[in-house]
Amino acid sequence: MPQPPDMPLEGLYGQIIMDHYRHPRHRATVANPDIQARELNPFCGDLAEVQLKLDSHGRVAQTGVQSQGCSIIQASASLMSEALAGKTPKELEALAARFRDWLQGRLPEAAAEGLEGLQALQVVRQYPVRLKCVLLPWVALEEGVRSYCARRGPKG
Ligand code: ZN
Repeated sequence: MPQPPDMPLEGLYGQIIMDHYRHPRHRATVANPDIQARELNPFCGDLAEVQLKLDSHGRVAQTGVQSQGCSIIQASASLMSEALAGKTPKELEALAARFRDWLQGRLPEAAAEGLEGLQALQVVRQYPVRLKCVLLPWVALEEGVRSYCARRGPKG
């Protein structure tokens, strides 16, 4: 499937997305991560990788997120990387679920309050074909958390 032309990104949210695309945050790889995953979209070649190191309280202390592909996945990966610090694996799962529901219009707009800057990604709603791009880093995050919890067992 051919990629649609790059979206016209206007307004404040467009500026935020372009800024994250040009200056991705937390892009350095984290060594010896507790949580890690890599997710590829074979249809468009988008790639997202996540590494998280937890502190002794089980909260995210170091974040690494790398991405390749279109401007939207790179911006989404960078925006996501800013929302993870200090969270437990359970809180990461909850954030990912809430973000996904909100992005796909299954939550009232007021629910975006707790989304910590991720609201900028709502511009993608006009381009449903790009939803996969936005969500790929989140799929990687969820994958990583799931396998971390599976390794840790029910005590989590
Ligand atoms: Zn893409």
